[in-house]
Amino acid sequence: MAGANSPEAARSAGGAAAWWGHHSAKLLIATIIGAIYLRIEPLPPGSMVSLLAPIAIMVLVVISWLLIRAHSRRLCEACMSAMPLNAAAVAARNTRRFQVTHLGSNRPLVLAYFAVLVASAFIPGTIGLVIWTAVQASMIYLVLSYSSHRMLQPWCPLCSDNGGGNWKDVETPDPVPQGYQPA
Ligand SMILES: [Zn+2]
Ligand SMILES: [Zn+2]
Repeated sequence: MAGANSPEAARSAGGAAAWWGHHSAKLLIATIIGAIYLRIEPLPPGSMVSLLAPIAIMVLVVISWLLIRAHSRRLCEACMSAMPLNAAAVAARNTRRFQVTHLGSNRPLVLAYFAVLVASAFIPGTIGLVIWTAVQASMIYLVLSYSSHRMLQPWCPLCSDNGGGNWKDVETPDPVPQGYQPA
């Protein structure tokens, strides 16, 4: 029998957090799509749902982001088993995603992107809606790029010294998943 404080319960709780962390990028993408949908098809105003939906989306974005950060600190078991056998070849096809990810270390560029992200919400009319949707959707590509880069980082040419990358201090993932502790 597994009590609330048993190692089994702790392990399954840790497993659930790890599972959620592993899928946090998908959660974030779903949240972005939900936010776009709510802008295009707004809920009837005045209802409890229309009041709570934007708050729920904000909370989901923050939780997803925190989980992505936690998940990024190690290579999880699910990531290990999802690693393609021809990782080097897959990495070679993903150089554009790597480049996008490395732009994330360019602080002025990131600030400019966030400024556009926020400002696009204030452009009125259909044009504004189109621009806003495009900018929001670009976040999905960023999340995908970040996920690909994280998994294929050992093969990222920009992370290596001769690749001209600015992530020189990056550490190669440990082949043994560190988050998993057998009870
Ligand atoms: Zn993972
Ligand atoms: Zn890289």
